Order: sequence, then C-alpha cells, then structure tokens
Amino acid sequence: MTLNSGKYDVVILGTGASGLYAALNLDSDLNILLCSKADLKLSNSSLAQGGVAAVLDLVHDSYDLHFNDTMIAGGQVNNPVSVRTLVEEGPTDVLNIYKMGVDFDKNPDGSLNMTLEGGHSRHRIVHHRDSTGDAITTTLIEQVRRLRNVEIAEQTLCAQISRAESGFFLELIQNGEQFLVGASFVILATGGIGRVYKYTTNSAIATGDGIRMAYELGANIKDLDYIQFHPTAFAASPGRERFLISEAVRGEGAYLLNCHYERFMHRYDERLELAPRDKVSHSIMMEYRRTGSDRFYLDISRLDADFLKQRFPMIYARCLEEGIDLTKQPIPVFPCHHYLMGGIAVDLNSYTGVPRLYAVGECSNTGVHGKNRLASNSLLEALVFSKRAAKDINRRIHDPHFVAVHGAQPELQDGTAPLPEGLRTQIREIMQKAHFVIPDQSAAEKGLKTIEDIRTRLQNGKFKKTADYCEAKSLATVAALILRGAINR
Ligand SMILES: Cc1cc2nc3c(=O)[nH]c(=O)nc-3n(C[C@H](O)[C@H](O)[C@H](O)COP(=O)(O)OP(=O)(O)OC[C@H]3O[C@@H](n4cnc5c(N)ncnc54)[C@H](O)[C@@H]3O)c2cc1C
Repeated sequence: MTLNSGKYDVVILGTGASGLYAALNLDSDLNILLCSKADLKLSNSSLAQGGVAAVLDLVHDSYDLHFNDTMIAGGQVNNPVSVRTLVEEGPTDVLNIYKMGVDFDKNPDGSLNMTLEGGHSRHRIVHHRDSTGDAITTTLIEQVRRLRNVEIAEQTLCAQISRAESGFFLELIQNGEQFLVGASFVILATGGIGRVYKYTTNSAIATGDGIRMAYELGANIKDLDYIQFHPTAFAASPGRERFLISEAVRGEGAYLLNCHYERFMHRYDERLELAPRDKVSHSIMMEYRRTGSDRFYLDISRLDADFLKQRFPMIYARCLEEGIDLTKQPIPVFPCHHYLMGGIAVDLNSYTGVPRLYAVGECSNTGVHGKNRLASNSLLEALVFSKRAAKDINRRIHDPHFVAVHGAQPELQDGTAPLPEGLRTQIREIMQKAHFVIPDQSAAEKGLKTIEDIRTRLQNGKFKKTADYCEAKSLATVAALILRGAINR
C-alpha cells in the first residue's frame, strides 16, 4: 500500500509471527497499520526450521515438564510467571494457528507429529518438515490480508518514534519519501539483532531498530548480552547470512568432526553431539583453540540417503546449492550469532511501561528464556505474548475514558550528508571479537569506546535519513547496550 500521513488506533511494526498474530488478535473495529521494512516475508520467522514447542498431549507430557525444561535451559534465571504463562497458554495459540491452516506434519493416523529437540524431555515440537516458519508466516499473512481494518505497508521503515500528548507520531520512510503517522498505540514486533555480528543466521531485517527506538523513548532494555550462538551454521558460503543446519540433524545422529575429520565432543561434554546449543558452541571454540583450525564438519552421510532427503528437504537442497551433498559428504559448519534472549523489558501483557508502547517477539524480553532459549520456544513466545498485547490494547482502547492520539506534530527533518562508509563493518568486527561464544572482556572495553564514538557521530551529524543510516544507528545503539551489559555483568 502507498502510504499517506494519517492517524491509526494501532501501528504494528513488523510482519513476523509476532506482528501478524498481534494484528489477528486486535478487535476488528480498530484501524491498524502493519508495516514491514522489507518484503512481508523477509523475517526471522520465515526462516524458522525446527518448529514450535507446545504441550498438546497431556497423557505423555505436562506443563510442569515443559516449564522445567525451559527453566533448566535458561539457567533458572527465567521469570517463572512468564514461563508458566508461556507453557499453559501456548497450546491454545498453536492449535489456533493450526485451525487457521498452518500445515503441520501429521502421523499416519492424522494426529499432529511431535518431534524432539535438544533440551526437551518429551516429544512436543510441531513442525512443517524443516521449514516451519515459512508455513506459519504464509498462513498468517493470508489471514491478515482478509482483515478489512488492517492496512499493510511493505518496504516501509520506521525511522523514529516520538511521544505525543497521548500516543505517538512515527516517522516512516517508503520509497525514499518520509511520512508522519499518528498512533494511539504502537506494537514493536521488529525482531532480533543478528546483523550486529559479522556472521548470523538472521535475515537482513535483524538490525535492532525496535530496541533502539524503545531505548530512545526511555524503555528499559534488559539482558541484551544474553545472546545465543548456534553451533552449526553452514560455514562455506560467502556473505553475512549463514544458513542454519538445524539441531534436528544432530538429533538424527550426525557427528561433529574437527579439521582432522575426528569426533571431539567427548573431550568437552558427556552428552556428545546432543549437548545443548551453548555447550556445543563452546566445545567447538575450545577445540578450535586446541587444533588451531576453524574447520569443522557435521557428518550425517552414514544414514540412508532417501531418509535424509525426505527428513531435511530444505537443508539438503540448500547444501546442494553450495556444492555439498550431505548424503555423501560432511557439511562445513561453525558457530555464529543466532538469537537474542534479552530485549525491551515488558510485563505479562508485553507492555513496556512507556505509555501505550508494547513490544512482542524477539525484540522483547518477557523473561521466558532466561540466559539461554530452549529450542522452539521463541515462535511460541511470539504467539502467546503478542496475543496478550493485543487483548490488553483491545481492553484499554474501549475504556470510556480513552483518548485517541493527539498533540503537536513534530516536524519531519532530514540532513544531506551521506552515511560514512565502513561504520557498520567496524561495529561488526568489534562485536565478533568482543562478545562471541567466549566473551573477551578487554576487547569489549576497548570496543565499547569506539562504538560509543560511532553512535555519537551518527546521532549528532546531519545525515540523510536513509534505511542504511537508520540501521547503522540501531546497530551502534544495540552494540553499545550489549557491551555495556557484558562489562557490567
Ligand atoms: C534460521 C533460524 C531458524 C529458527 N528456527 C526456529 C525454530 O525452529 N523455532 C522457533 O521457535 N524459533 C526459531 N527461530 C527464532 C524465531 O524464528 C524468531 O525468534 C521469531 O520468529 C521472531 O519473530 P518476530 O515476529 O519477533 O520477528 P521477525 O520474524 O524477525 O520479524 C521482524 C519484522 O520486523 C520488521 N521490522 C524491523 N525493523 C523495522 C522497522 N524499523 N520498521 C518497520 N518494520 C521493521 C521486519 O521487516 C520484519 O517484518 C529461528 C530463527 C532463525 C534465524
């Protein structure tokens, strides 16, 4: 949709699982603007492979077991009330998107197929082959497109949010043009921060814009240094975005090999290849130090080729595109950034504490993940807490004393200077060294100073407000917050 300056009841920034599900749960009499800064489907949600965790079989599984698994993975620093909410409400939301049409894999008897992933004590992951996120976003987008009260603005980046007397004004950029829209409520569903690293599994949108804008509005940003590094990202392709070789491949029996094509996990963890993500990443880095080589492999070629092609069609095809036939040869892998546990601190309704501002999905910190996310709990979190945000807004907006957005409109401003080259690369180099799998305190202290300087330069300069400029500002802010958190911890 081509944008006009106007006023909305709710503006949702983000069309991943959390933004879409929020739109679906807001009342149909509200006028809603839903923005994605790129194509609708370019998001971390679309990339999710493994599935969604939910207790759907109360005979063989229980909420207590899912609760305990989540707390153990999170190092027991999770918020227990949020975790309880997640595991008890999650099944309703998973069944709800199934009813909407998400094509989860089924058993021959028609029941939902539930698989196992690292850290889960029961089979409770529903999935669509190895491309669950794509199946979910496709269905949710179809559903949202049917809503007459929701305007969808693709390729529309929110550069800045300012507070009005009540509600907000948002500066949006579409096709290089700036627009100002008013919103009685804003839901940030802007996803993660992977692009602050040199290598990440995250999509190009993951630059932490929502976290930066919430920080500028005075929201509390919590535990940003709690970052998950996935041990087995595809390591032989150029470029920043690393294709993920799902946990499930190790689950099916793949061996991790060092540069000498030898198994090595026995040196570091008795659970071998099935140790949790953080332990496997850590073990790879220790083995790197021991051998001096960063060449690692994941080998599943001893299993039946037809089974592998059927079980991992997307991973098989992607590896083949890169010249690796996983049914015959080992896959080159190395750890890289994968997921952000910390984020904008929110309560059980995903409310940030900044009047009328909500944050949902990966940009938020509900406390469910603690120090380390349990596999397949993030899509669940995106669903459960975005619905809670929507319900809270439905309640508040229909209060008889509710006042819609109003106040003096800020002036749209722009500079002329182009974004200096190399700033983002500099930030990524620092982050990759200072706060990777094994953090480096002195690199963090030194790097923070440089990053603070970059941030000040970006904030004070008269730069042209392009997407690159806004994202560079977000990366600098997020990097500074991560390093400050890591140094203080
Ligand atoms: C490779 C991969 C595999 C994964 N596998 C799983 C899995 O199997 N199970 C699981 O539970 N989790 C998995 N995850 C994690 C999970 O996919 C994400 O945490 C979750 O989907 C995040 O959803 P979200 O709605 O918060 O954000 P996203 O889906 O990332 O969506 C963010 C949206 O925000 C928009 N946006 C950002 N900034 C702006 C801005 N300034 N203005 C306007 N719009 C903006 C983007 O355009 C995008 O639409 C995986 C992640 C990756 C990367």
